[in-house]
Amino acid sequence: MESPPTTLESVTTTCCVAGGGPAGMMAGFLLARAGVDVVVLEKHTDFLRDFRGDTIHPSTLELMYELGILEEFLRRPHQELAQIGGQVEDFAVKLADFSHLPTHCKFVALMPQWDFLNFIAEKAKAYPQFHLRMESEVTDLIEENKRIVGVRAKTPTGNLEVRADLTLGTDGRHSIVRDKAGLEVIDLGAPIDVLWMRLSRDPNDQEAALGRFLGGKILVTINRGDYWQCAYVIPKGGAEVLRQKGLPAFREAIASAAPFLRERTEELKSWDDIKLLTVKVDHLRQWWRSGLLCLGDSAHAMSPVGGVGINLAIQDAVAAANILASPLLHGTVGDEQLRAVQKRREFPTRMTQRLQVFAHKNILAPALSQRPPLRRLPLPLRLFQRFPALRRIPARVIGMGFRPEHVRTPEAQKPVAINGSNAA
Ligand SMILES: Cc1cc2nc3c(=O)[nH]c(=O)nc-3n(C[C@H](O)[C@H](O)[C@H](O)COP(=O)(O)OP(=O)(O)OC[C@H]3O[C@@H](n4cnc5c(N)ncnc54)[C@H](O)[C@@H]3O)c2cc1C
Repeated sequence: MESPPTTLESVTTTCCVAGGGPAGMMAGFLLARAGVDVVVLEKHTDFLRDFRGDTIHPSTLELMYELGILEEFLRRPHQELAQIGGQVEDFAVKLADFSHLPTHCKFVALMPQWDFLNFIAEKAKAYPQFHLRMESEVTDLIEENKRIVGVRAKTPTGNLEVRADLTLGTDGRHSIVRDKAGLEVIDLGAPIDVLWMRLSRDPNDQEAALGRFLGGKILVTINRGDYWQCAYVIPKGGAEVLRQKGLPAFREAIASAAPFLRERTEELKSWDDIKLLTVKVDHLRQWWRSGLLCLGDSAHAMSPVGGVGINLAIQDAVAAANILASPLLHGTVGDEQLRAVQKRREFPTRMTQRLQVFAHKNILAPALSQRPPLRRLPLPLRLFQRFPALRRIPARVIGMGFRPEHVRTPEAQKPVAINGSNAA
């Protein structure tokens, strides 16, 4: 049997970021760019992992414009989604139109999340203050005199202690940081779960991303070039019931929601090809403790509804960098600034979660119950078809969020050309 690692390495930095997802990588990048020494700990070996949303929103693209890296980013393979539509029974509906947004990019860019994170890592590593440590899993917080002063982590070569003036908890919806900090979680509940899978895409398939509401089934298909990323919405806890009914019955359910995919459902060879996302929506009552601040899903787990979790996580990171960079540089970061980050980001978080909970209860849960076919669209949807200007409202909420942030941190020094990483 392999013996557990016993060596202990100790590192001191100004800001320790626990978790290298969208929130952690963007916070690490912006702080290092502003001259703050940062150590980002990411438990995985690389950013390649299961689908977790591939949407880069117009507001995030705008941030990249402000940082001067947009053009380079858009040279990487991606798809552009300028509108969101759907099919409700026999009716085709248009729901969101991004073409009027006051941003340089009037579309959502679809790019695998690992490509996006690799791009941000590449840009961040050009600053000597940025240190990314992969395969470093945070296991505990270090607390002294009621203040968090860093984290403990395990790495393949042994145990690691990172001591820092500030720790950012950006370790996502199953955050160990918020657990260990004892921060109170308010659970808003969610009546749905989602099954994710890929099915191949034919070049002759129609282009649009579509939410399909058909005969008590909801299937979302997102165009990813040579495949469709599919999300099948089920009642909470319903995955086991589906498994018991068997894979052929599941294939039939997908085919009846999207007949053009019927033959391709054979690509689902086993339940391993289908991933369950247990949907949860929650937020912390207080996002911080002395020496610690949670951001992104760690502070507020988001439903995939509307595809806005990444956007919120990144906007949190920008707001945190704007408020904290200077106090971190001057060694004066205190509770007041951590409270200020929560205050700034709490309003957009709560508004977005309210809308998600509303959509769960009033749109998704009722649509999952088998009812007689609709003879006409519900009134709000009819209004969206009749008055196209209304489609700008969801476009704004999805594309920019309730409080878009802008980069206010100055660049402390020009990036240097690098080959490979500058790990701590
Ligand atoms: C299946 C699915 C589909 C989704 N679809 C969309 C979508 O289309 N659009 C959208 O905007 N949002 C979507 N979301 C939500 C979105 O993924 C999250 O809101 C967003 O990723 C939150 O970013 P984050 O950085 O806060 O957390 P995460 O993206 O969860 O990142 C957390 C990071 O911390 C790392 N980590 C975890 N624990 C530790 C530890 N102990 N030590 C070190 N590292 C750790 C993880 O490996 C990960 O890299 C989806 C989510 C899921 C699960």
